Formats: sequence, C-alpha cells, structure tokens
Amino acid sequence: MRAGLEKEGGSRVKMLLSYVDKLPTGREEGLFYGLDLGGTNFRVLKVQLGGNDQRIANRESRAVAIPPHLMSGSSSVGEDVAVKLQTAMEKKGVDIHVAALINDAVGTLAGARYYDKDVIAGVIFGTGTNAAYVEKANAIPKWEGELPESGDMVINMEWGNFYSCHLPVTEYDQALDKESLNPGEQIYEKLTSGMYLGEIVRRVLLKLSLQSAIFGEIDHTKLKTHFHLRTPHISAMHHDETPDLKIVAQKLEETLGIAGTSLETREMVVKIIDIITRRAARLAAAGLTGILKKLGRDGSIDKRRSVIAIDGGMFEHYAKFSKCLATTLSELVGEELSKSVVVKHADEGPGIGAALIAASHSQYGNVEGNPDVKY
Ligand code: ADP
Ligand code: MG
Repeated sequence: MRAGLEKEGGSRVKMLLSYVDKLPTGREEGLFYGLDLGGTNFRVLKVQLGGNDQRIANRESRAVAIPPHLMSGSSSVGEDVAVKLQTAMEKKGVDIHVAALINDAVGTLAGARYYDKDVIAGVIFGTGTNAAYVEKANAIPKWEGELPESGDMVINMEWGNFYSCHLPVTEYDQALDKESLNPGEQIYEKLTSGMYLGEIVRRVLLKLSLQSAIFGEIDHTKLKTHFHLRTPHISAMHHDETPDLKIVAQKLEETLGIAGTSLETREMVVKIIDIITRRAARLAAAGLTGILKKLGRDGSIDKRRSVIAIDGGMFEHYAKFSKCLATTLSELVGEELSKSVVVKHADEGPGIGAALIAASHSQYGNVEGNPDVKY
C-alpha cells in the first residue's frame, strides 16, 4: 500500500487517486442518477435528495443483466467512459450532465458514509473484488496538487491485483490463471472472488475424477467445460443442510452430469468447497486487516470505531463466506479491538454513492428551489 502511494507504478496494487476529496455529508439536495456498471448487472438508480431533514426523499431503480460475453472480473473501466456516456445521452436528447465517474468500491464507501460517519472503507466481493478507503492527503507522496480542504482523499486500491509469494497458490490456481484472459494479473481476485471460486472447485473435481473412480464412469464434457460450475452452485451445495446432502446430489447431477454419488463422495465435495471458500474468506479478511493497519486502526494508534462497508453478491448471498470473513477478521485484530471494528453489508450498493458524489462534486452546486433542473 505504501509503495503504491509513493509513486505511480510503485506497486502491483495501484492505489489510484479517486479525486474524491469530499464525501457526502447528508446536506446534498437535488435530483441525481447513479449508474452502477457491475460485472454481471447494470443498475440505474434515480434519487431525489432532500437535504438534512429529508435525506433521500424519493428513489427508483432498475437493473439489467450484462450479456456473458461482455462480463469481466475486473472493475476498472476506461477513462473516456464519462465522455462517451455524455455524448450518447446528448445524441438521444437526454438532458443529464455527467458529473462523476467513480469505481464501485468508491461508490460503496460514499453511499455507506452518507449514513454512518465512521465508515472508513468500501469493499466489493462480487464477480470481482476491490477496495477503496479514506486516506490522509498528506500521507500520499505521489499526490502533487494542492492539498484538498478536507485533508482527505479516497484511494481506489485496485487490490485485486495484489500478489505476494506468501499467497497460498496451488496448481489449480496456477492453471486457472494461465488459461485466463489476464494471466499473471489479478491473482488476489482469482483467489477470492465470485467469478473464480466455482471454477477452482471444478478444476479440483475434474482432476479427482480423472485420477480415480470416485464419480464412477461419467461423461466428462460438463466437468471439462471452463466456468461451467459457478459460485452460486457451490454456495448452494455448501449450505445444504439435508441429512443425506440431497442438494449436493442434485447440483452434481444437473450441473456436472455426475449422478448416483454416495453420501461419502458428496461429503468430500462439500469439504473441497469448504476449503476453497474458507481460503477466500480468510484472504479477504487479511485484506481488510491491511487497510486497518495502514490507518493505524489496528489498535496501534487510532482506537475509534471503524466501519467497513461491503457490497457484492458473494458477501451478500454466500453466508458461509461472509461468516468466515467476519470470524477471521476478529481473529486477526484480536478480541479487544474486534468490538470497535464493524463489517457491514452496504445494502444500497455503489449506485447511491455515485449519485451522492455527483451531488457533492457537481459543478452546478445545489438546485435549491429549482426541482426541474436535471443533472
Ligand atoms: P456485479 O456488481 O459484479 O454485477 P454482484 O455484486 O451482483 O456483481 O455479484 C455477482 C456475483 O456474486 C456473481 O458473479 C456470483 O459469483 C456471486 N453470487 C451471486 N449469487 C450468489 C450466491 N447465491 N452464492 C454465492 N455467490 C453468489
Ligand atoms: Mg457490483
């Protein structure tokens, strides 16, 4: 983290300046839109901000699925997106001003901060993973401009690209990485995020099946298909509470064409899923601890309450993942400090944060008394 803040290209973790130096206060007013372009869904949110008393006076949202061939695990997008979006809307005669383009982790941070002043970071565990946190501007050597009035700068870590030789990378991870669209990149993301967990499990099951008679004589077509086993499938198997693991049997048959498994085999499959998901959750908690340490909030300097807002389908829907993440975080920061470190689901997602940042950074300022002006 320090090396990335020191200079551009100083670390695999880019530690990008987001140029967001004021986070929402609750006083914002006007009509704003937040667009959230995720890895699997595109969500649009429309909010009427009513200022201090009213906060969010009105909201509407829509979501559409992104076609699979356009899906990508990484959350970064080209810088000309804002310009292209503005041009496209003008062409369609839509009178909306694009005020800010932010990343989903930054949006999650801003959205959660609107409701809770103690939020220090926004983190995504969805299709991909990323984190953003509030850094002191004077602790960013690569920042060359004037220090912002707030003294703060939100850093978009792009932490999915973290790598260390201490990461518990196995032959399955190495093969997945080598055959991926971005070999050598996003290694931490490939160990922790929703796009990949099911795929790692598939690779383990395939090797087991090819080297043993564990699944009997099966057609390997499905088991050999990349990304055929998805994280929601392994999550459903992992949470199977039926005594004879009926859901595991059903998923193995439907998804992978593995029928007639014994209970013992199904238990082994759950064990494999457990190992891979717990590894992901523990690495995720280690990432959060890194942020706390960087800010001196690991009990060393700053003992204030620290809230980390997390969004993403993995955190929201994969209960065993989120539970293990929380337990590991307590383990890492210690019992005493774990009382003041709070991990919570940012249930409104990053869209609301985008709308709020558009509001607090809008070049038009407030629209008090003119509800017809759209930005
Ligand atoms: P994005 O913002 O990238 O569109 P989301 O935050 O909605 O993505 O998360 C979608 C991801 O969450 C999916 O790719 C999947 O890996 C994971 N996911 C969705 N549902 C579940 C589930 N029930 N159990 C586990 N993981 C899930
Ligand atoms: Mg998302």
